[in-house]
Amino acid sequence: MSDQHEGPRRVGQVKEVTSLSNPIVKDIKALSLKKTRDETKSFLAEGLKLVIDALDLGWTIRTLVYAKNVKDKPQVVQVAAKTVARGGLVLEVSEKVLSSITRRDNPQMVVGIFEQRWTALKDVRPGRDETWVALDRVRDPGNLGTIIRTADAAGASGVVLVGETTDPYSLETVRATMGSVFAVPLVRASPADFLAWKRTAGVSVVATHLAGAVDYRMIDYRRKPVVLLMGNEQAGLPEEFAREADALVRIPQAGRADSLNLAIATGIMLFEARRHLLSLDAGA
Ligand code: SAM
Repeated sequence: MSDQHEGPRRVGQVKEVTSLSNPIVKDIKALSLKKTRDETKSFLAEGLKLVIDALDLGWTIRTLVYAKNVKDKPQVVQVAAKTVARGGLVLEVSEKVLSSITRRDNPQMVVGIFEQRWTALKDVRPGRDETWVALDRVRDPGNLGTIIRTADAAGASGVVLVGETTDPYSLETVRATMGSVFAVPLVRASPADFLAWKRTAGVSVVATHLAGAVDYRMIDYRRKPVVLLMGNEQAGLPEEFAREADALVRIPQAGRADSLNLAIATGIMLFEARRHLLSLDAGA
């Protein structure tokens, strides 16, 4: 790896790159691998608006990459200046290079490489009116991205990833979050740590299960901070989680489908749990 991804950060500078074999470009392309993202604790996000929002929210940018043909756009000039001011690297590249970085024929003209952020489970102390989502071994990047986006839209406080899950900082998941990855705190936890936390956090864990005896609309979501616990796409929720939950609920279904898609079920739960807190007047 070249030094813009690890070790002391370089003083900001702008570099022009046209070659696909440039070592910095190779390092950025390597972020498509989870191993590289883990090692460098960084990830790639596409789109000018996303990069602007992330910088406004105080995320640390390591590298800004933009296509040469947008270099005079005022917003691009601004984000480039911000990146340099914060000690990041700025790359002005050909569209061919951007296509190879994003693996797309029609790439976004701006991408940013940011530092990952994780919230420690011990620091999560949900207060009144808070809703968290806990996902047991979520596998599908599109589901996870959609859930992060929906959690953001519903005003949830964060998402806890329990057990071995897909990486929220993969390109596919970040794309599916549509920018919400920068707004929703993410937590990683082993099943044992999650259960231990649950016993002391003063939360009500509402677990969703196809064998749940309670209609999800019958729960009082106002009493305590709520954690909506969702099962794995294939296996559903393990017995141990179902036993430890404060309520085991089901979303009534009609038709032939055995179950709902995980992201859809999470969306339904989120908007029901936060129904009393959401109104058109308060929204955007
Ligand atoms: N074959 C799995 C099973 O037996 O549980 C199906 C899992 S489903 C695709 C993924 C998750 O979405 C479930 O574990 C549950 O958390 C949630 N889910 C889907 N449909 C649901 C429903 N009708 N009621 C409650 N939860 C549901």
